[in-house]
Amino acid sequence: MVVTYHRPTRAIIHRKALRENIRNEVERLPKGVELFAVVKADGYGHGAVATAQTALTAGATGFCVATLDEAIELREAGITEPILVLSVVFPSYLSLVVDYDLSITVATKDWLLEAQEVLKDLTEMTEPIKIHIKADTGMGRIGFLTPKEVQEAAAIVEASPNMVWEGLFTHFATADEADFTYWQTQASRFQAVLSTLDHLPRYVHSSNSATALWHDKEMPGNMIRYGVGMYGLNPSGHELPEPYNLQPAMELVSELIQVKKLAADEGVGYGKTYDTPKEEWIGTVPIGYADGWVRKMQGFSLLVDGEFCEIIGRVCMDQLMIRLPKEVKVGTKVTLIGKNKGQEITMQEVAEHLGTIHYEICCILSERVPRIYQE
Ligand SMILES: *Cc1c(COP(=O)(O)O)cnc(C)c1O
Repeated sequence: MVVTYHRPTRAIIHRKALRENIRNEVERLPKGVELFAVVKADGYGHGAVATAQTALTAGATGFCVATLDEAIELREAGITEPILVLSVVFPSYLSLVVDYDLSITVATKDWLLEAQEVLKDLTEMTEPIKIHIKADTGMGRIGFLTPKEVQEAAAIVEASPNMVWEGLFTHFATADEADFTYWQTQASRFQAVLSTLDHLPRYVHSSNSATALWHDKEMPGNMIRYGVGMYGLNPSGHELPEPYNLQPAMELVSELIQVKKLAADEGVGYGKTYDTPKEEWIGTVPIGYADGWVRKMQGFSLLVDGEFCEIIGRVCMDQLMIRLPKEVKVGTKVTLIGKNKGQEITMQEVAEHLGTIHYEICCILSERVPRIYQE
């Protein structure tokens, strides 16, 4: 999809917010614990490369992504720090892992055996590939299930001339919840894994943002994988209080492209789901479901001149209509997410309207919306 610059709809990314969120986190970390910035899914919609570059200036020492292509994007942009791919990369792509000097996740013994075969045939290989062994302590997604399996995997890696054991990690399923019981179950399982090994790799890591924010006294490891907190979003929604003020990095804004007075009993939008109950001022905003502002946003309100204006009628592919309290000039700023004259709409509020989490809101904002970076 082409990025649409010639339209007033923009996602504004505040680099200062990204930096301060990282700095605040780095300051809390015990000495020797590193912060890897998680920039998967195009930096949660904030732009992976720009976010990574900003994170570097604030103290991040490495990066995590979800896929091989995301890692390659960072390398192509000139990022030279360690990059860990968190999900499984098929062994058939290992030549790319070598070429781009990436660290990858290993979750099964079969993968290791297959990878050994592939690596034997890679003649151009110079450095061994860097392996992070994933222990599944209760997320039930990917990883080795028992300490014995982890031990066995580590032995295979260490015996392979083409592999180096660089990391060991796990992932918590409930670190963002007020009830710590299951987090503790997972933490003790990870401790059991650690205690059965006679030595540990360079990186041991277990913390996503929520673990770093709310379990920082007990989190095992010497690196954290800091994602959503960097973008200024509270991982728990608002269930748990932030230990420091997280500053939202993204604003979503547009402008009114038409303003008109409709008579009473006029229809607005496809399906005529809205009829003006009386004479009303209606504004049109150039953003729609193709931008990731989905149809279910009907009924939510946007900010114009510090006033909440309801989205009336169905959200179209490229436009939507709002009810204005009075006549407003074409070109007036509309805030969909962010602050506007003393009022604010948060990503969390958008998520609540849709019955989802803010992670999903920033990820579904489509490529059509330009990301504009500000200090
Ligand atoms: C996405 C992800 C993270 C980052 O999670 P946040 O909640 O955004 O901090 C960390 N670790 C793994 C394995 C992930 O998939």
